[in-house]
Amino acid sequence: MAREHLLCSVSGIKDGEKRTFTVYKLRGQAFKIYNDRGHSHSSHGSLRVTERDIKSEITTVYGAYSLNLEGSVREGVNASTWPDTYKACSNCSCEPTRRAYGGEGHCHRCNFLIRRLEAAKRWCFGEPQSLGRFIPDPYADYLSRLSATEFTEYKKGYISWMEERLEALKEASNHRQGNLKPADLAHKFCDILKLLNRKAPSFIDKDILERSFDGRQMAVIFSLLDDMIDASVHNSDQGGFTAAFEAVNQLHIAQQDL
Ligand SMILES: [Zn+2]
Repeated sequence: MAREHLLCSVSGIKDGEKRTFTVYKLRGQAFKIYNDRGHSHSSHGSLRVTERDIKSEITTVYGAYSLNLEGSVREGVNASTWPDTYKACSNCSCEPTRRAYGGEGHCHRCNFLIRRLEAAKRWCFGEPQSLGRFIPDPYADYLSRLSATEFTEYKKGYISWMEERLEALKEASNHRQGNLKPADLAHKFCDILKLLNRKAPSFIDKDILERSFDGRQMAVIFSLLDDMIDASVHNSDQGGFTAAFEAVNQLHIAQQDL
């Protein structure tokens, strides 16, 4: 990325005098510091775009200390990955500060799901090459051993799981804005429980939430839990494989009952 993207401003003390710095993101892990006297410095080497490394570089280069940072470095880094033409994800409506860019106008989480969903729609029974590159080898082997009926069930389960995940991301953005019911927050707690332990009982008493928190508080808690899920995105989205397997297993059980 050639353009510089504003990350944060930093104030500090040097020789008893207040000094200010503005920090911009450059390509890769580099950042550029401007001081209040027109001097600039670009980071290099092993530094990363983190609050700690930015503060350390300001102290090293400019001798300033007691540094206070304003703005979120993480949000700035996310926003720097988005093309200027997009103001929000076209599926979930999250803003560029929330998640890194994925592609085709989508945040990286929606893009991850959309690409797999589109690929799954092209799967054909008896044509292993149609599975594409998103299916890890052990799953591809498993799929190649399924009967036509099982394959169809698997494909159906996989596609509907991906569609549900995309819809859930859309709903989550809406809930973060405060449009949520106690049951929505209870579900979010259950999602966290499932990430920790798939066999954990997925029950949270929504009445306790309703009695304890008002709508604004519930939206804040929901957002924090939602951020936790984002941090473990790989596990939750890869859950699509498991869900589809379960769809196939249900079919086996149904056939045994006949
Ligand atoms: Zn999105």
